Amino acid sequence: MATPFDYELTELHTHVGGAVSPEIMWSLAHSQGIKIRGKDYWAFVDSITVRPGEIKGINDYLDLFNVTELIQSSPEGMEESCRSIVGGAYRKNLITRMELRFNPMLRNRGGERDLDHIISAAIRGTERAMLEYPVSAGILLMLDRRFPLGQNAIIVDKAIKYKNRGVVGIDLGGPDSPGFKVKDYAELYAKAGRAGLGTTIHAGETDANAHEVATAVEELGVSRMGHGVKAAWDEKALKLLRDRGVTLELCPTSNLNTNVVRGVGELKFVVDKLLEAEVKFAVNTDGPEMLCTSLRKERDLLKREGIMDDEQLLQTEDWARQACFVK
Ligand SMILES: [Zn+2]
Repeated sequence: MATPFDYELTELHTHVGGAVSPEIMWSLAHSQGIKIRGKDYWAFVDSITVRPGEIKGINDYLDLFNVTELIQSSPEGMEESCRSIVGGAYRKNLITRMELRFNPMLRNRGGERDLDHIISAAIRGTERAMLEYPVSAGILLMLDRRFPLGQNAIIVDKAIKYKNRGVVGIDLGGPDSPGFKVKDYAELYAKAGRAGLGTTIHAGETDANAHEVATAVEELGVSRMGHGVKAAWDEKALKLLRDRGVTLELCPTSNLNTNVVRGVGELKFVVDKLLEAEVKFAVNTDGPEMLCTSLRKERDLLKREGIMDDEQLLQTEDWARQACFVK
């Protein structure tokens, strides 16, 4: 049997909390004795997946992570999760270069589990997948908008500690939070950059954080940005992204399901704007299992809806490889 795909892909933006298949999550919950709410396996699948029209907005989507993060809050959970994500990405989509992201402090049951054990287990899982398949994978540790600066600083220190052992960068995400200011993170991001880590941030995903696109580029010096779609309505932000060579990590289905982008017409508008402004971007899933998608399906969607052609899609794969923190 020949490989069913004509070329290899790179995935830059996948959350560990949204990328493990439900049957593995189910077994992981049981093997750890975690009580599962809902009447049966299918109710459990519903509790950790999203289909179009099922949720009202991004906060409903982020709430689903509470279930998956709990199940992954152990070394065993993280090792198996990361191993299965990287292996599955290769088998199902021929993804040979991949970054996984997670917040270790949302995986340690409020401090009960040791952060180093959680991070080491994630590294072991990706290492095992790399032994099983011809893939290169790396980990991004995520900071959270809801955490105080000092708490996020500990995560940056952990990323630096493990930077030669599989951690390749940092990201910042989580729900919009009062009191959070991008510019407060300039020093931490500079520290991560000096240590040789790649830096990205979730910004320009919601109307509330649309203004963060420019601040993140100017104050944090990121080379990539998660989503960034709201820049399509801001000529100055588009110019800044292009001038600084920032690559956006687009996640079409995620944006459609969370109503961040209102329909395929608006998605086309965003992509057209980025292409016209010469802003580089990569196509991603955000979390293929939670969003019932895959990287190939994301690309098919863009082609089917007449948003991008084959040549443009190949170009995004090039941009993804160039911007990838896994070298
Ligand atoms: Zn994301």
